[in-house]
Amino acid sequence: MEDNFLYEGKAKKILTTEDPMVVRMVFKDDATAFDGKKKGKIGDKGQVNARISSRIFRYLQQKGIDNHFIEQSEPGEIIARRLEIIPVEVVVRNLATGSISRRLGLKEGLPFNPPILEFYFKDDQLGDPMINEDHIQVLGWASREEIEKMRESAHRVNGLLLELFRGIGIQLVDFKLEFGRAGEELLLGDEISPDTCRLWDLKTGEKLDKDRFRQDLGNTEAAYQEILRRIEELEE
Ligand code: UDP
Repeated sequence: MEDNFLYEGKAKKILTTEDPMVVRMVFKDDATAFDGKKKGKIGDKGQVNARISSRIFRYLQQKGIDNHFIEQSEPGEIIARRLEIIPVEVVVRNLATGSISRRLGLKEGLPFNPPILEFYFKDDQLGDPMINEDHIQVLGWASREEIEKMRESAHRVNGLLLELFRGIGIQLVDFKLEFGRAGEELLLGDEISPDTCRLWDLKTGEKLDKDRFRQDLGNTEAAYQEILRRIEELEE
């Protein structure tokens, strides 16, 4: 194991740098679904997701959303501020699909207006259970103030990403965010990529995200490449 190793997750490795406040995020080709029960690889995913995430984090910074992104270094790597990650996944939903459709029996594609925000406890062994704001506060994962900041940021990010993706012919269906602390600051962290978003082609309805892997739809690698191609055509 490298001596600068900090943490390894399902899709990324986090390494230290000379600066204790800065980390290297190395994106992996490994793909998992259903809380790690389904495993595989998506060709070039590491490099593609690092580039897509970099582009999105830069866009969000330009729009005033603070996040951990510093720069893209090597292919497949991002240099970012070191965060103490809050163990809560914030999911924003514009259209019904996935777990909300299964749980509540909603037809895929049903629009939500306003968008629905959900919280999940980040714990694979427990299968990332859904939680509410009381759980987060009472169990000490984040303060009321931090929860409010995450809610507000998630809604703003949704508005900005809806617009970004619409501009490249994509419907942003839903996505997951993670936040963390850097000193006094609460920052958006982790990644934003076809692994963590559901992205449907506006014209054809084709799924261009990890559902291709989850549902064995094939051409997953090409779908990720297509998102990268469209997003990199945008002007900075
Ligand atoms: N998501 C994620 N990581 C998770 C769970 C969900 O990135 O651990 C994303 C997922 O890609 C989707 C959104 O969050 O864009 C909502 O996922 P949902 O709860 O529908 O998940 P499912 O159980 O259907 O995969």
